[in-house]
Amino acid sequence: MTNQHIRLLIVEDSEDDARLLYSELTRTNTDITYTRVDCAEDMRSALLDSEWDIVISDHSMPRFSSLEALDLLKECGKDIPFIIYSGDVSEHVEVAAMCSGAQDSIVKGNFARLLPAMEREIHGAAMRRAKEQADARVHKLAFYESLTGLPNRNLFCDYVGRKTGQADAQSAAIYVLDVDRFLRINNCFGHKVGDALIRRIGQRLQECVPEEGMVARLGSDEFAVFLGNTSGDEQARDGAERIRQAFSSPFVEGVLEFYISVSIGIVASPRDGDDIPELLINAETAMFRAKSMGGNNCQFYAREMGAVASAQLVLESALRKAVAREELLIEYQPNLNAVTGALTGVEALVRWRHPEMGLLQPDEFIPLANESGLITEIGNWVLLNACRQAKAWHDAGHTGLTIAVNISAVQFWQPGLVQVVEQVLAHTGIDPQCLELEITESVLMRHADTTIATLQALKSMRVKISVDDFGTGYSSLSYLRRFPIDILKIDKSFSCDVIKDVESAAIVQAIGALARGLGLVTVAEGVETVEQLEFFRQQHCDRVQGFLFSPPRSVADITEMLGARPGGQALQRPGIGARDHQMNHHVGQILTREFARGDA
Ligand code: C2E
Ligand code: CA
Ligand code: CA
Repeated sequence: MTNQHIRLLIVEDSEDDARLLYSELTRTNTDITYTRVDCAEDMRSALLDSEWDIVISDHSMPRFSSLEALDLLKECGKDIPFIIYSGDVSEHVEVAAMCSGAQDSIVKGNFARLLPAMEREIHGAAMRRAKEQADARVHKLAFYESLTGLPNRNLFCDYVGRKTGQADAQSAAIYVLDVDRFLRINNCFGHKVGDALIRRIGQRLQECVPEEGMVARLGSDEFAVFLGNTSGDEQARDGAERIRQAFSSPFVEGVLEFYISVSIGIVASPRDGDDIPELLINAETAMFRAKSMGGNNCQFYAREMGAVASAQLVLESALRKAVAREELLIEYQPNLNAVTGALTGVEALVRWRHPEMGLLQPDEFIPLANESGLITEIGNWVLLNACRQAKAWHDAGHTGLTIAVNISAVQFWQPGLVQVVEQVLAHTGIDPQCLELEITESVLMRHADTTIATLQALKSMRVKISVDDFGTGYSSLSYLRRFPIDILKIDKSFSCDVIKDVESAAIVQAIGALARGLGLVTVAEGVETVEQLEFFRQQHCDRVQGFLFSPPRSVADITEMLGARPGGQALQRPGIGARDHQMNHHVGQILTREFARGDA
């Protein structure tokens, strides 16, 4: 016999017979240990307490029999080869034993047969175990997710389908939840931290789910939860609250502390879908709704959401191809010197010429681009093309014309932003001082240290940093001192209000004073009336932008405007579009008058 260690369980009432068997076996293999049992209780504890490679059993004993031993083996759920080794085995017993699962039956003393039979059966059992392990691994791959070890979508559908399909099943709630702003964590702290967080989130979720429930990981930061029977929306909402509670304390990862919130979509089975895959899709739809409402909340699925969601999906897949199909275009809105009315620069504003839906404004697709991550590609495209265009204007003699490009928060946190800007500068040859990157106040407020590092890297290339929509966030004004910024763009909501609302006027005054103190350039956006223009001029605002002067325009229009006023004189005719030529002409006259009065 091969010299592998063999753990032998002998079922035998005679210790002498057992010892004889043992000494015969150790002639060819010295590495054998054995235990003898001769009744059901002893065999049961032997089976439960230890591992065995093979059982060799006498047939008939005073307190036990081989058939009873076989039954016990089955009862304990053990796959251990079983050989009957007995002096008196009738053909009838042999057949019964084989039917019960005995592998062989050998007459006592016939070692010439026993030894090869043992070897064959032990080897066979090892092969069976290896196959089982391989099957288990394949099963794990097919039904579990490797990062968290949680069930995947397949297993979740399978399990919940069985639970909710049972005859006595009540209605049940299914939740899909997604971590708010997870992309940012990944971008800021790297995938290692992101992965560790996902694992911890999985653990926390599992802790709040009862035994009959299930947590599955559906995608990068998306999980599904089944809590078992929940009858009625009231109970379903309580369940969602319990899940949200799991996120009330921060996640600690080394020295970092993360306060994480989730958006939850809820569906009721069977009300909201015919099968589990459909229920999950609908729960995802509701989750997206929760997300679009600012995150950190839960929403029940409603039929109307489905139509909106599928429309969004269709739009997203079209947007994916928009850059390659050259469907994006940029319009430019003039920035004017508030005192002289000279056109000092333009802001690049992207549009999408959708093949069926026509010209789409950024509000109709930028949020989707941010959510899907497409904003990086789109933003890089805008940056490159806006800089190219600005360079062309510079080369045509309009040197110093500034070009402002919007950078969304998602884009700002992308790992390669600084390199992208560097490449665009090198590639287009534009004077870096003419490029103004517009970031929102909210970018400044998150992760100040990382932000400062990125801003400094950009500043070292001599690019200008502009804070867009200023006044809408809640950063205290003194907070701004910490950041290397150049320009403040006062949000357009103030422009509407400065005339009629004293509070808005006071805020703008304060912003103006602070900006002067910090040596920042101020831009008032959304200036629509002459009164507003007058107000901002009184506040010593440096630049103005708004429909009063010109809406965003095509390259050709801007080129014409620039050409119409060589040497940077006041803008006489803002905008040249034939459609609103009349209006522009009118505005132009007002402007000429206003700027003339201001200069006087
Ligand atoms: P924003 O950066 O605040 O851009 C100014 C928006 O105000 C533009 O809208 C512009 O058309 C509008 N506007 C200009 N003058 C007036 C005015 O006098 N009154 C009023 N009520 N509105 C005025 P638009 O082009 O629809 O862009 C909306 C937003 O989309 C932008 O707001 C910006 O946040 C985003 N966006 C546009 N292009 C890009 C881009 O290339 N990348 C990124 N990340 N975001 C962009
Ligand atoms: Ca802007
Ligand atoms: Ca703005």
